[in-house]
Amino acid sequence: MDKCSFCGRTKKDVKLLIGGISGHICDICIEQAHSILLEDGRNRKSFTLNESKILKPIEIKEFLDKYIIGQDEAKKTLAVAVYNHYKRLSQVDVGDDVEIEKSNILLVGETGTGKTLLARTIARLLQVPFAIVDATVLTEAGYVGEDVESLLTRLLQAADYDLAAAEKGIVFIDEIDKIARKGDNPSITRDVSGEGVQQGLLKLLEGSVVNVPPQGGRKHPEQKMIPVDTKNILFIAGGAFEGINKRIAQRLNTKVVGYGASKDAEQIDKENFLQYISPMDLRSFGLIPEIIGRMPVVTHLNPLDRTTLRNILTEPKNAIIKQYIKLFKMDDINLGFADDVLEYIVDKAIEFKLGARGLRSICETIMRDVMFDNPSKKEKDIIITLEFAKTKIEKSEMKHLKIA
Ligand code: ADP
Repeated sequence: MDKCSFCGRTKKDVKLLIGGISGHICDICIEQAHSILLEDGRNRKSFTLNESKILKPIEIKEFLDKYIIGQDEAKKTLAVAVYNHYKRLSQVDVGDDVEIEKSNILLVGETGTGKTLLARTIARLLQVPFAIVDATVLTEAGYVGEDVESLLTRLLQAADYDLAAAEKGIVFIDEIDKIARKGDNPSITRDVSGEGVQQGLLKLLEGSVVNVPPQGGRKHPEQKMIPVDTKNILFIAGGAFEGINKRIAQRLNTKVVGYGASKDAEQIDKENFLQYISPMDLRSFGLIPEIIGRMPVVTHLNPLDRTTLRNILTEPKNAIIKQYIKLFKMDDINLGFADDVLEYIVDKAIEFKLGARGLRSICETIMRDVMFDNPSKKEKDIIITLEFAKTKIEKSEMKHLKIA
């Protein structure tokens, strides 16, 4: 007797039984399958490039401006890179043998200057899968830690395992400086998280087919590898490269005393050497030349000065101060900050040498008790005064944070 190949119900148990080449399906199973399909469609991110929606570099930068203060150089470089990435993805072969190649990017800037924030913000507006990964966990194959291929596992996950989409994605590799070669002589000690990893990474940056464990890690040796072609994957790397300032200064200096020195000697901005970074400096820091060659676009982020820190507090779309005001508004409380409090918070962030990262912890220290008490009080208007902020900070542990 004919019955549904999915649920086993017979013709008389259902309203409709449709026959196929080698099986049947009933109306109940059709409906169920339909709702699974709908559900899946809703959950699945769409990565189809819609050309009319692709933002121009100026628009991409305008979007970044809403969230990130300053760092114009880095924003422009990223905007162009992302735009070109889209163009490369939509290039059609017109028979002229000109193939647009990708230009992976290296962002150099002190910690807390907004490298990750830039990457995250770019991710918000992209129409391709995007993964942020940390280079510090990577080690040479066979050692404790993760293989370089795990970078692509994250991208596959971000793409909901849509391989075609992942192969057009963008990977942000944070802390790339941590895989610099440790000593000057690579052969003396085993350098499992240095040069070996760079060699592994090179394979991905160059564009090749890499076998990727879909679940990542080495805990699932039985998993079937997915071959991923990295030819069209854009890599953006970021790092603080601590101490590279000195190398740049040294290099500039040798140039200054040498031939043709006169031109630049006086124009060098000694406060911000990073802006003069060149592949040579990266090499002397410990990146292998092949890796440097595969990241032809190098850009820098500026250290955050007073004005920038002050603006970070109030200007970005989700600025810290705006967040507190919103939190209080939800309890119908109008929160305000005296201007000198904001200056004070910036002073403290500079004094504690915590940069932008410190702004939030300083604010939390000031606001903790108010946030604890006020929801149960009747007060509807609160102004945070300088005096109040000072007592909170001075009483708190933060004063011990100060780095001499
Ligand atoms: P990095 O990756 O360079 O170490 P992050 O991007 O993680 O630094 O920045 C740390 C925090 O500091 C961010 O969450 C952000 O709130 C703030 N921040 C840093 N730089 C900026 C900036 N230029 N504009 C706005 N906020 C910033």
